[in-house]
Amino acid sequence: MSLERLLEYNRKFVAEEKYKQYETDSIPNKKMVIFTCMESRLIELLLKAFDLKNGDVKMLKNAGAIIRKPFDSIMKSILVAVYELKAEEIIVVGHHDCGMSRVDTTALVEHMKERGVTQETLDTLKHAGIYLEKEFHGFDTVEESIEQSVRIIRNHPLLPKQVKVHGLVIDPHTGKADVVTRE
Ligand code: ZN
Repeated sequence: MSLERLLEYNRKFVAEEKYKQYETDSIPNKKMVIFTCMESRLIELLLKAFDLKNGDVKMLKNAGAIIRKPFDSIMKSILVAVYELKAEEIIVVGHHDCGMSRVDTTALVEHMKERGVTQETLDTLKHAGIYLEKEFHGFDTVEESIEQSVRIIRNHPLLPKQVKVHGLVIDPHTGKADVVTRE
């Protein structure tokens, strides 16, 4: 099993004190939050492409680096990072070739049904005002999506005015970053 393999390695990692090179505290050294996509091609590449190391930034991720509501969990994390962890700069990093730019919500719902989610469950959600097509809607262009996420963060009533919010788009192959919007 894959979990077993992780745990086996973990025991060795700790026993051999491999953690020592990563030791740091919980305040981000660069006073920065990076909010990006869960894209697996970016796990290491994003850090390397910006010369970031363990302890440098608070890293937040979701599918598509999308914020659409001012009180979703990402926005709450950003506020905690700003007020309690001394972050002064927020960077939203979307990427080209993002899966959320072509989410077929109809197919997604079909896949849920194939895996056992019943029509009754879907109807119950709909009655509660949860429309999956809307909830899982991605974006048409990544730049527009980044601008939208940045706008929600910048205009948040609880964000201190001094905090700067920028938007970048990164290439998941080369790591090249382009500015979409900056302060
Ligand atoms: Zn993505």
